[in-house]
Amino acid sequence: MTAATALRRIEGLPPGLLDVAASALNDWLGAPTLLRLKGRERAPILISVLLHGNETSGWDGLRQVLRRHAAALPRDLLILIGNVEAAAAGVRTLPGQMDFNRIWRPASGIGIEVLAGVADEPLLAVVDLHNNTGKNPPYAVLTDLSPGSLGLACLYDSGVGVLVEEPDTVLTRAFAGRAPSIALELGPVADAEAVPRAARFLDRLLAVGEVPAGHMDDLRLFRTLARVHPPADAAFGFAGVGEGDLDLVLDAGMEASNFRALPAGAEFGVARNGFSLRVLDNQHRDVTDRFLKVRDRRILAAAPLIPAMYTTDENVIRQDCLCYLMAPI
Ligand SMILES: [Zn+2]
Repeated sequence: MTAATALRRIEGLPPGLLDVAASALNDWLGAPTLLRLKGRERAPILISVLLHGNETSGWDGLRQVLRRHAAALPRDLLILIGNVEAAAAGVRTLPGQMDFNRIWRPASGIGIEVLAGVADEPLLAVVDLHNNTGKNPPYAVLTDLSPGSLGLACLYDSGVGVLVEEPDTVLTRAFAGRAPSIALELGPVADAEAVPRAARFLDRLLAVGEVPAGHMDDLRLFRTLARVHPPADAAFGFAGVGEGDLDLVLDAGMEASNFRALPAGAEFGVARNGFSLRVLDNQHRDVTDRFLKVRDRRILAAAPLIPAMYTTDENVIRQDCLCYLMAPI
């Protein structure tokens, strides 16, 4: 995997930038960019958008908010405009590129430059804006349960928070212990509410003098326990789509069960040729037997479980996983 191109740094809002769609940002900026905007209050909020190139709602919501505050921003903002090359191609990550949300611990590529660039900043908060990949409700991703990070999640109108401990290389994790930090899953790009959802959150955050302390009972909170993967050498696909040659025939309908409790025996798909799904916990230990079993080649839940972020996107499945398994906190 190649490191990303160097980070570009810009002070102040370039005229016309707010009219530029995500897909055209690469023509404008030519590189991932850290934009510094001056406001009345000094302690800046770091807002990152487009770490995944096809997740455009964060940029669109941010543009709306910045337009409304064109005269004067309430406080300084540091805006990271991430994978503009992938955005130009309309994909999450280009082939051969590192996933921009996996370059933060240890820092690599532009992650190094961004963290160095904000090292001396008295950050008020860190917010990383994403779109859901599969059919999931909007939710906040927490990498710690500090009052500040919970408080940020409470400013988001989803009311749902997921504590994600693995992968631990994400942007928000790099700020744990330093500033309240969350990632927001805004809903799928096609969801007409995703952009206004981002804008509402940013408006609320810009209006606070400091991040309010949040509590665990303020949210419907889950913790991820494990991730479900097809083996790297297995040919997998979904039922009904050329399944003749596949080692694993998965049930696309499972996507509708995201964030819902499934009973033991719920079916994930059909195992062939000695392949099955694998489940790895947050320490990368194989815990398949705890969650899944195979009976008559059918892959079944071995216990009641709650899937999340189940996706039918083959690239995401290969790069990340088929789904997470969660437990309520
Ligand atoms: Zn994303």
